[in-house]
Amino acid sequence: MTNRFIESAAPGLASLKPYVPGKPLSELERELGITGSIKLASNENPLGPSERVKQALSAQIADLTRYPDGGGFELRGAIAKHHGVEPNRVTIGNGSNDVLDMIARVFLWPGRESLFSQHAFAVYPISSMAVGATLRVAPAVDYGHDLDAMREMITDATGVVWIANPNNPTGTYLGESALRAFVESVPAHVVVVVDEAYFEYVQRQDYPDTSTWLNDFPNLIVTRTFSKAYGLASLRVGYGLSHPDMADLLNRVRQPFNVDSFAQAAAVAALGDQAYLEQSIALNDAGMQQLVDGVNKLGLSYIPSVGNFLTIDMGREAAPIDQALLRLGVVTRPIANYELPNHLRVSIGLPEENARFLSALEQVL
Ligand SMILES: *Cc1c(COP(=O)(O)O)cnc(C)c1O
Repeated sequence: MTNRFIESAAPGLASLKPYVPGKPLSELERELGITGSIKLASNENPLGPSERVKQALSAQIADLTRYPDGGGFELRGAIAKHHGVEPNRVTIGNGSNDVLDMIARVFLWPGRESLFSQHAFAVYPISSMAVGATLRVAPAVDYGHDLDAMREMITDATGVVWIANPNNPTGTYLGESALRAFVESVPAHVVVVVDEAYFEYVQRQDYPDTSTWLNDFPNLIVTRTFSKAYGLASLRVGYGLSHPDMADLLNRVRQPFNVDSFAQAAAVAALGDQAYLEQSIALNDAGMQQLVDGVNKLGLSYIPSVGNFLTIDMGREAAPIDQALLRLGVVTRPIANYELPNHLRVSIGLPEENARFLSALEQVL
């Protein structure tokens, strides 16, 4: 008997490959029977949670039996204040992935085109295929977005253009003038998503804060997350900033209680904890230098990154190197699924974790 229901699945699913997350340490240690392994595979904040966040979470336990505030009044207010915008521009998500998914459900469907760059974040094709949209992939230039190529690929059928700035897994970024000229050139019916998951880490003069462009471009939506520099990956909370009419459309498909009370309380606390953020950024800067120095010493090249990860060219297939590193208890991310089979992406960890990765890599090579 065949599973006839498979033919009943939505058309985009036949060729959709699920997102591949970084291997959890518990899984690796179970498989290899080892302990003390380290994970530098998911661009998480190695500092651990801040005290203020821990206190906010403890206080929340008393309300565990109640549904969360579905409207996210306090959190949306805190985000709005942080950005100096009205709360009706804020859409909260179960991670920013959730917001990306809402965008796809609102603006894409069979026959509509979803445009993004080669090597861009894997969620764009996944969310687009789930709703049956046609994928249009612009070839990358120097591992980053080629905005001219992307502009040329916009058609009447284009629903959404996705820009990761900086991009994961390459760490490349777009400067203010180029990105602004691109957004200006996009027809008003096309939604432009600027995914700024690593915004807080970037320290370049010409790196734009596109959340300040919202008044100029009603078709722009900027996404941010608490998963990276704010150190709350486990709680799943992120947001979109857009024109209120776009936020209204997203809100129609948003699950009513998509961000739980713990995540909301923690995110409010995290936004008010700039000291933690500064500590995270300083740790990242030092760790990036440590990795770059170590990689240079090994004679390997890498893609210069403005994020909290470094993508290293192994000069040969990276999958066996990844396997060997796993056996030494070091989890990194091979990115053949991003059409980069010779590269490994390594997240910046604590100084001792970075050192352990470098010595394991030296051993493996
Ligand atoms: C990590 C990441 C996200 C954020 O994911 P969350 O769902 O907020 O945890 C979004 N975009 C990119 C490019 C990322 O790397």
